[in-house]
Amino acid sequence: MSETKSPIILWFRRDFRLAEHAALSEAVRSGRPIVPVFVLDEVVETYGAAPKWRLDAALRLFDERLKSLGSRLILRRGRAADVLASLAKETGAGAIWWTRAYDPDAIARDTAVKSSLASAGYDARSFAGHLLFEPWSVKTKQGGFFKVYTPMWRAVRDRPVERAEPAPQQMLSPNSWPDSDQLESWGLQLAMNRGGDILARHACVGEARALDRLEHFLDGPVIGYKERRDFPAEEATSRLSENLTWGEIGPRTIWHAGVQAMNDGKPGAEHFLKELVWREFSYHLAYHSPEIISSNWRPDWSSFPWQEDEDEAVLRWKMGRTGVPLVDAAMRQLYVTGYMHNRCRMIAGSYLTKHLLKHWRIGQQWFEDCLIDWDPAANAMGWQWVAGSGPDASPFFRIFNPQTQAEKFDGKKVYVHRYLAELSQDPGRDALDFYQACPHCWQLAPDDTYPEQMIDLGSGRRRALAAYEQMKSRSEGRGDA
Ligand code: FAD
Repeated sequence: MSETKSPIILWFRRDFRLAEHAALSEAVRSGRPIVPVFVLDEVVETYGAAPKWRLDAALRLFDERLKSLGSRLILRRGRAADVLASLAKETGAGAIWWTRAYDPDAIARDTAVKSSLASAGYDARSFAGHLLFEPWSVKTKQGGFFKVYTPMWRAVRDRPVERAEPAPQQMLSPNSWPDSDQLESWGLQLAMNRGGDILARHACVGEARALDRLEHFLDGPVIGYKERRDFPAEEATSRLSENLTWGEIGPRTIWHAGVQAMNDGKPGAEHFLKELVWREFSYHLAYHSPEIISSNWRPDWSSFPWQEDEDEAVLRWKMGRTGVPLVDAAMRQLYVTGYMHNRCRMIAGSYLTKHLLKHWRIGQQWFEDCLIDWDPAANAMGWQWVAGSGPDASPFFRIFNPQTQAEKFDGKKVYVHRYLAELSQDPGRDALDFYQACPHCWQLAPDDTYPEQMIDLGSGRRRALAAYEQMKSRSEGRGDA
């Protein structure tokens, strides 16, 4: 088959959408047949239980979406480089294109894929699409990368952002379709066990629903976003993280809609755009300092006396049985819905890393297993921010007091009662669902007595500050403060 007529394999990863898809638009323009594929590869195999569950849902819906255009999603399992090379041989494809990813594991995989396919003579090409700005295109005045958010925001806020490409109306199919695995045979939902049916009530899957979500948010909640976004019982934020994570909506679509809302005079819109740039910042950091994913971003923190053992205290944190209502409600929200409100992520994270002195990696990994919006860059940056070891992190001495936070942001205890059956007179569905979802071996029941606090908040705070002083004096002693 000539190069100009041979099929193009489009390798989908975290970009399950048809609009704002540069690789897809270019492939449609070429007039060549398109073979869409998803590979359960060496990186995807490592995902946690909830992300795998959510991926299954995304794949199911995306296949339907492709079928509405006369196409389909081919599923294959194995090392990405091998699978793509053999699919190219089977289909006579001359090109394999994909949307770039920026976290270190994906970069390592994609670099290997590109070099092996290119050396075999294929047109192996990556396109922008996951971010508004390529991480290498945003630079400080000195030509370096940004380590603090606010200057990065100032550097990008007025940059032109290209309009999103519309979804194609049709896609040319190959003469015959290659074999595909059956999604069920991958068992992506299995690790969630009974919790999967409960997550299904909270997940909002697919491109059409993501666009509805954006429209709904910009029609109403955006107006009070700046003031209300910290109140966890309210529907005051966009909830788009789930869809951005799986690429069911593109960041340029959100950006332009947000700018329009700002130009229409909607008060919270600029603040919303700023939050989107936090997402950019997390990828900027992951790209320029990939160590942020797995080790203390500030090297002097290596002497911080984190406790790394997963003991009874960690288990009680995961169960939502610490005796601190806001922390426990947050941990239950995570388990039941696959989502946790941003302020509660900060509070539950601070409690684990400061009051309990547990290593932030323990929390990062638990979130990685439980979040349906799990994002490698945002999760790592969030945990290092909370712990104090990251760039632009919250100063260590600013230790969240979960009690005063609860008074301020959940004064009527609506959030706490929604998720904690033990503290509610008449527990609702979200509180009771936790007992359906959680492991039987935890032996928890809604009529359990609510536990005493594991640690007095004042002494926990003092212990954390002492540990911080100890680390500072150690690193000052080494002269690397
Ligand atoms: P909105 O308030 O509507 O914000 C709009 C979008 O901006 C979000 O969808 C998200 O893409 C982006 N955004 C907002 N805040 C942040 C932030 N602090 N960092 C990066 N991007 C942001 N976000 C994830 O998407 N995945 C994660 O795995 C994740 N883990 C986190 C772990 C910790 C410890 C902390 C403190 C934060 C984490 N965040 C993570 C960031 C933030 O909590 C979520 O993005 C936010 O709660 C999503 O809700 P929303 O879509 O309603 O956000």
